[in-house]
Amino acid sequence: MSEALQVSCPTCRRRGPWLDGDWKPFCSERCRLIDLGSWFAGRHAISEPLRPDHFAEFAEASGDLDKPDPADDGQST
Ligand SMILES: [Zn+2]
Repeated sequence: MSEALQVSCPTCRRRGPWLDGDWKPFCSERCRLIDLGSWFAGRHAISEPLRPDHFAEFAEASGDLDKPDPADDGQST
């Protein structure tokens, strides 16, 4: 006997055996469509965790990301 794996719906976070359903890994067609819509809206691009190589691209382009902020007046140190 196998128990259905409980997972969180990526859209609404409801937990259930969604991987066994028609809309896996979503709980419903609605949540699946919402997720697809957010892909097209570009929301996934900013919710995706940033990795060091993302910054490396910017560092190469500007070359001064490692310098302290000249506007810093010492409050944070
Ligand atoms: Zn859902």
